[in-house]
Formats: sequence, structure tokens, C-alpha cells
Amino acid sequence: MRTAFAAFAAALLVARGAFADADCRPVAPPKDQAYPGAMQLRVDATDLDHRVYHVHEALPVAGGKALVLLYPEWLPGTHAPWGRNRINKLAGLVVKANGAPLAWNRDPCNVFAFRVQPPAGTTTVDVDFDYLSGDSGQAGAGASHEVSQELLVLEWSALVLYPAGYYASRIEVEPSVKLPDGWESATALDTAPDNGFRRTTLETLVDSPLFAGRYAKKWDLDAGAPVPVHLDAFADRPDLLENKDLDKHIELHRALVQQAYKLFGAKHYAHYDFLLTVSDNISKGGLEHHQSSENQTGTDYFTGWDKAMAMRDLLPHEYTHSWNGKFRRPQDLWTANFNQPMGDSLLWVYEGQTQYWGKVLATRSGLWSKEEALDALAATAAVFENRPGRQWRNLQDTAYDEIVAPRFQPQSWTTWRRSQDYYDEGVLLWLDVDTLIREQSQGQRSLDDFAHAFFGIDDGSTTPKTYGFDDVVRALNTVQPYDWAGFLRTRLDSLGRDPLDGITRGGYRLVYNDTPGKYLESAEKLYEYTDAVYSLGISLNKSGKVLGVMWNSLAFEAGFSPGAQIEAVNGMAYDTDRLKGAIKASPQTAAPIELIVKDQDHFRVVQLDYHGGLRYPHLERVDGTPARLDDILAAK
Ligand SMILES: [Zn+2]
Repeated sequence: MRTAFAAFAAALLVARGAFADADCRPVAPPKDQAYPGAMQLRVDATDLDHRVYHVHEALPVAGGKALVLLYPEWLPGTHAPWGRNRINKLAGLVVKANGAPLAWNRDPCNVFAFRVQPPAGTTTVDVDFDYLSGDSGQAGAGASHEVSQELLVLEWSALVLYPAGYYASRIEVEPSVKLPDGWESATALDTAPDNGFRRTTLETLVDSPLFAGRYAKKWDLDAGAPVPVHLDAFADRPDLLENKDLDKHIELHRALVQQAYKLFGAKHYAHYDFLLTVSDNISKGGLEHHQSSENQTGTDYFTGWDKAMAMRDLLPHEYTHSWNGKFRRPQDLWTANFNQPMGDSLLWVYEGQTQYWGKVLATRSGLWSKEEALDALAATAAVFENRPGRQWRNLQDTAYDEIVAPRFQPQSWTTWRRSQDYYDEGVLLWLDVDTLIREQSQGQRSLDDFAHAFFGIDDGSTTPKTYGFDDVVRALNTVQPYDWAGFLRTRLDSLGRDPLDGITRGGYRLVYNDTPGKYLESAEKLYEYTDAVYSLGISLNKSGKVLGVMWNSLAFEAGFSPGAQIEAVNGMAYDTDRLKGAIKASPQTAAPIELIVKDQDHFRVVQLDYHGGLRYPHLERVDGTPARLDDILAAK
């Protein structure tokens, strides 16, 4: 298979070389100049049966001038050419001028660019296409479900072809959406009469997704404030937005807003909307925007409050991005339009510190208890204390992982190849910084002061303010003089360094016992897997299929690979309790754990000579040391 593909690829290269001179013309780079007139963009989102969005655009053009239309490739917030997972969903493209079809040609060197030559005298080019959103027939990591019979997620970046040659902030758009009858919707866009929105820029449009649904609820999270904040929820069923403790839970979201204001000071939106799906039919995940965020959770968000604990730092994370990521943005991550490549070198700030504040704000607001937060941090600490990949790949290099291995591609062996580790190892890095500032300043200052000084400036501004590595160092030095450049580079560039300094300086140590903490307990239920990572070196799904194998662990040495199926435990058919029971009993017996394993067409019997019992990570207070982590997690 690989050989055949290589030969095909080689042939393609020859062919491409042959016509490159004739057809590969450079696409005009974006310029800071106004696109004349405003694009009309009309989306029909009523075809729920086929889960297809129909798009109509009308673009003002200067007659006779060639037009290059771009489909977004590099999408803000994904840090990657995420559009490569989408462009195959664009279908039925028809371009017309004055009612007559116009030929379009895809650029052979840039499949995201479509060339059109309107005849002289043309003032408007009409474009129609369909966006074939993901459907339940699709499988794999790349499958994305945006539409169901009850709700939909509408990202404008999937639904626009836009003119090359202009900054996205200089192209004006008049968008409108047709929704199914009776549906409610929410977006950060300002509405205009007759189902449309006020004229905006392409940059703001792409940054302002729309959620809609049959069953919706809206809560005001900052009543009476001049800058409103709302939680807009859409669910599979109306009962998923009910719960006897709902008022209490909404209060915690209100506390999140106030805790964020105390942390950052200034805000960078005219109004903010937490867009929330509570659904098993829509893909789960989160995506940040300046004045809103996409938060796609499962059906448990409200009705299974305890079970859903492991995902409850999602809203605090995405909210933090309004400050860290959207307003303050790494200079190599800012791009003028959606087809310029992004640079990911500072994602350990953009995502790493956001992940840190997401966990801290979840706790300060009460969305997490302190015990839950400590368990979540223990889980993170254990991952990086036991990650062999840290021996060859440093933290800085993981910042490029979203481009090396985009999330829509299946990934195996994350303990060895590593993954988007700048998120969670970033948590440990910023905990290290925070506790060091607190230690150096005798408790007078903290990373809160950095957040206030770095992110909480220019109140009300929604224009991105870019920064580089030196700006981060300078801001840290203003809070607490120290060799921050050396400190950060050592932690970013070295191999195999102990990542737990912040835990220690926070007054805690990482220990293991046979009871899962609240975080792993929630994660196992929520993501339906079995965690035997710190015992056998393996994680499995409910039916015993191996999901991950710790590199160089006991399971690794025994020949396990992701995808293998455990059929039996000590002579009995596999189930989760039997496996856990065997691990739990292992210290009391000299006999190995015997597993029957099926891997592809081969069955084999594996003896694991393991006697360490169940092992789950926890943080344990070290008496007599300053409890800095407690101070960090306490509400302001
Ligand atoms: Zn993020």
C-alpha cells in the first residue's frame, strides 16, 4: 500500500512540475486595503435531513478584473490548516455573472483558491455552493457533527469563499441565516431586522459563530452590567436544560464572570456569549472567539453534574481566551486572512496559560471544589511524570504539534511521540512561574499580577494586540525581577527535566493510591474508558480494546499495541471490573495476571508479572511548607 502510494505521489509530482509554469500563479497576498463594496452572504440552514448548508454569495467586482476566491484554510483557534479537513465538504459550486454561468478553475498549486474571470462590465458575481456538514455515516477522528434534527453549530469559516488580496478586517460582509421555523439562535453578531445581521467585517464574522436549536435557554450572567454576558444553551431535549440545582449551577457561571474580571481587570468585548451545546449528536469540544465561545458538551452538562466534572473547566478555558489568545495574540499567530500560514511558537502561552487559568478560574468560581481541582492537577502531574517522550522531544517542539499531527488525524503512542503537550505541561510550567513569583515576593505578588498587566489593558478594545517572547519576559520582570528568559528557555528547551517544581513549591507532593480521585473518576465515566495507565501501563475502552499503551511499560514489554483486544482476564471473559479486580488483588498473590489478547488475527496468552495494585495519582499536602497552591485556588 505504502509503495503504491509513493509511486502515485511521485507521478503526481512529475505531472505538477509539467504544468506548474503555465497554471500556478501566485495568489495575491492580503493587503491592508478596503475591498470595494460589501459581500452579501446568505446561508440556508434548514436542510436538517441531509445536514447540508446552502450558501449564496454576491460579491461586488470591478468589471473585467480577474477574481480569486479563497476557501479558509488556516482557521483561528485551531492553530492549524484545519480547512484541509473541510474543503472536501464544499460541493455544487456555481459561479455566475449577470445570470450566466462563469467557468471557475481551482489553482493547481493551491487547492483553496478558485479563479474566475468575469466579463467586462460585470458589477456583481454570484456564488452558490453547498457545505456537506459531517454526518453519522462518517467515522474517525475527523468526523465532525455540526447539524442534528434539534440543534446546529454554524461556523462561518466553513461557509464562505472570499476575495484574495485583502485583509479579512477590510472586507465587509452583510450576513444572514435562514433557520428552521421556531428555532432560537445565539451569536455575538449584532442583529438587524429581517433575519439578518448588521454589516460587519469578514474577520469578525468568522470570529462569531452561530448556534441554534429547537430547545434553547438563555441566562444573563451579569445582570444589569453595561457589558452584558450571556449563557446560551441548546440541547437534544428540553429536560437536559432542567435540573433541581440549576439555579445554583447558573450562579457558579455568574461567579466565573466576576472572578475573571477580578483576575484580568479590563475586558475586550462589547458583549459576550457562551454558546453551549448539551448534546450527544453534535461533536464535542471548544473553540475560542473574541466576544463568544463555542462550548460543545455531552448531555450530562447540567443533569449529570458530578459525572461531567472533568469537562467543567471548558467554559473557563474558552472564556480566558478572550483575553489570552484573541486580544493578546502571539505575533506569529496573527494572520491577515485565513489562508496565510500561522506560526505556533508561543502556544505554551496562548494555550498553556489559558489551560492554567481555566483550572484556576473553575475553582475560584466554585465550578470545581478545591478537592476536584487538586485531583485534576494530580492527573496532569502524573501524565508528565510518566511521559517517556519528554526524553527526546522538548516542550517547545510540541507547540508545533497541531501542524505536525492535526487533531483530525488519528494518533497513537502519545506517551512516546507526545501530543499537544503545551496545554497540560503548560499548566505545570505556569504553576512553576506562579509559585516562584509568590516565593520571590514573599507572597506579595503572583501570576495574577502578570495577568492583570499583560492581558487586562486597553479596556474595551477588540483589536488584537500582538506580542513576542521578549514581551512576556518583560512583563514577568515588571511583576517580579528574575531571570525569566533563562527560566522559561530551560523549561521549554531541555529534555527530561522534572516537571513538578510548581507542585512542590505549591506545598504538595504527587502520590499514588488505589482509589481514583474525583477527576479521573469523572473522566473514566465521561470518556468511557478504563485507566490502568500507572499500573499495567494501559488504557482501554469498555469492551477491553486497548486505547493507549505507555511506552516502555509492563504492557509495552509484553507486546501490547493500541487496537489490541483483551478477550479474557485470568480465564474469564473480559470486563472492566474483572481487570480492575485482578490488578487490585495483585499484591496478595505471586501469580501473574493472565490475559488472552487478540491482535489482528492472532490470539495469544500474556502473563503480566505485576504486583503493585491499582495506582491513581493524588496530590498530598506537605505539612510545614507554605500552601501556595491553596492560595492560588482560593476565590478572590
Ligand atoms: Zn484553548
